[in-house]
Amino acid sequence: MDADTATSPEHRIPTHEDPAFRVFIDSLSYLKPDELALVREAYAFAAAAHAGQKRYSGEAYITHPLAVAGALAEWQMDVQAVIAALLHDVMEDTSVTKAQIAERFGRHVAELVDGLSKLDKIEFQSHQEAQAENFRKMLMAMARDLRVVLIKLADRLHNLQTMSHVRAEKRRRIATETLEIYAPIANRLGLNKVFRQLQDLSFELIHPLRAKVIARALRAARGNRRELLSRILDNVNGKMAEAGIQAMVFGREKSLYSIYRKMEEKRLSFSQVLDIYGFRVVVRDVPTCYLALGALHALYKPVPGKFKDYIAIPKVNGYQSLHTTLIGPYGTPIEVQIRTEEMHHVAQEGVASHWLYKDAEQSGADLQKKTAKWLQSLLELQSGTRDSAEFLEHVKIDLFPDEVYVFTPKGQIMELPRGATAVDFAYMVHTDIGNRCVAARINQELMPLRTELKNGDQVEIITAAHANPNPAWLSYVRTGRARSKIRHFLKAMQHEESAQLGENLLGQELQHLGVQAAALPETCWEELMRESGNRSLKEIYTDIGLGKRIAAVVARRLLAKDGVMTEEPVPLSTVVIRGTEGMAIQLAQCCCPIPGDPIIGSIRKGQGLVVHTHDCPGIRKSRSSEPKKWIDVEWQPAEGKLFETRIRVTAKNARGVLAAMAAAIADANSNIENINMEEKTPGLYTTLQFTIQVANRGHLARILRSLRLIPEVVRIGRVRGE
Ligand code: MN
Repeated sequence: MDADTATSPEHRIPTHEDPAFRVFIDSLSYLKPDELALVREAYAFAAAAHAGQKRYSGEAYITHPLAVAGALAEWQMDVQAVIAALLHDVMEDTSVTKAQIAERFGRHVAELVDGLSKLDKIEFQSHQEAQAENFRKMLMAMARDLRVVLIKLADRLHNLQTMSHVRAEKRRRIATETLEIYAPIANRLGLNKVFRQLQDLSFELIHPLRAKVIARALRAARGNRRELLSRILDNVNGKMAEAGIQAMVFGREKSLYSIYRKMEEKRLSFSQVLDIYGFRVVVRDVPTCYLALGALHALYKPVPGKFKDYIAIPKVNGYQSLHTTLIGPYGTPIEVQIRTEEMHHVAQEGVASHWLYKDAEQSGADLQKKTAKWLQSLLELQSGTRDSAEFLEHVKIDLFPDEVYVFTPKGQIMELPRGATAVDFAYMVHTDIGNRCVAARINQELMPLRTELKNGDQVEIITAAHANPNPAWLSYVRTGRARSKIRHFLKAMQHEESAQLGENLLGQELQHLGVQAAALPETCWEELMRESGNRSLKEIYTDIGLGKRIAAVVARRLLAKDGVMTEEPVPLSTVVIRGTEGMAIQLAQCCCPIPGDPIIGSIRKGQGLVVHTHDCPGIRKSRSSEPKKWIDVEWQPAEGKLFETRIRVTAKNARGVLAAMAAAIADANSNIENINMEEKTPGLYTTLQFTIQVANRGHLARILRSLRLIPEVVRIGRVRGE
């Protein structure tokens, strides 16, 4: 979004001899010589493309991409990211195309630049909290590649730093957007430094006066406290030297914005906010961290219960440090973080996310699970390789693999399951819109209703007063809401039409199995009717048309009657999947679906209908290679029935923990079928797998919640498809 350009003929393109460019090249010493050559080429390319453009400040435009690329160099990003940063505005502001970039700098760079241009096109409109959250998710989902987000953050940072010539209204808008969207993203990615910079810069742009007052007060306070601060610093440094520990000790400063927020939110005075002194001790290696801790505890009395060992037990996002609070001179509380340099680096610039801790509760268990999974893979990658280029290469963001985010014409953001169509969207907006929809305009273009929606699409539904839902929609809608609304309407519609639809669906299914409906002997149909209790063939068709029975299931039973297919064993258990009367049902052992889970089924020889959860990793391959084999199925409400599922709990080894867990599970009216010990770190933690019986997802959530209340339990989650 760098429309802040003005063309003027008397421009001057900075050359390779410019000091700024030389500083930039020097900062890239971690790249190989051939990579450096490519960076130089990209710079020349960008400079030529932006020739004649100026920023509002009057500087040549190329100074901006150069600064953005400089930030990327500071983070030691790979060559592709650095080049993409240099080129990040060329598609937006000049006539350069993606193909040209690909030809010159490769497909990966072109993808990155294209991704950035796409991000620039979507605009944040509403300022409600929920909207902001969705917008952030959409940005992340659209970015796909973490490097796109990082370049975007660097871009935003530099824009904020150079806003003084931009008109006030635009300045405020961009700063507000930064506070609501980009700063939280930086925070979640663990980019601590950028996060604080974005916040403080935005704060200064939105509330220049308040920022000035706080900054002045902070300077004054620094003066007043200098004596105490340096006394503590001296004491700590002296103690470290005495213990023979090489350490760097820093006072930690709070950011302007965090002081402002604390004053506002907690109604504290400035001096109350500043009353806690923060220090950071950075040492050479892990054993030294503990030595330093011991030395500090000998120097000042620690506050009981405030010590936390995030080195032995890192936070899920990879953060490591020792935390302790000491009672300093005059009873001043001193918060100290002790860490190695490497830990410090991760804490400042790491891409690991704070998502899990900050927002888990608000955003629900699903997000938490997915994020945890993502983080897990992130951490595995991180520990597997020290090469950041290779690391980033693998970090394709798939934070929200199951959702898409689209816009309404008014700029509202809607969250839909992946694969959702324009019809799902229509029903999401309003039942009447769904029932009357006839076409969709997606990104200004007329598209069929069955079009799958993509992240960032702008969707407008075209309705007609006398239109009706089409039964065929049932075959492609994704949301339960759309399906039930369509069914509801169809039910009210004449059975005649449902019967017709049912006949067609069954005919198609039989054909798919290589049989013509008309060729089946009369006896098959008669037997089927007798078994199912339907009085006529038309009733069966109607049931299928209304979605009460699944055409694929009926077709197979018919063929079994004819001896074409072998009869599947009919289970004694009650029916749990809608429309499968008479068919064997197996809930897959890999993912253990329970009512409430989105499910999908596949008919397997000798097994009947095998039902998996939608997100079961074990079926991903088959779903894409043979999508025809998979049928969307739905749970049939089953009162009083219990289902097996598995959970994994990691707990501190302590007397009575297992008993407490068993009691919590029993108290929640569940049964433990089996307990498996997964791993045991001597003396520390044990991970257990419980196979338990639950009625549905709500029941499982209650059990997990009460297990979480046990203090020794450190991690808990459902076992997914293993
Ligand atoms: Mn830019």
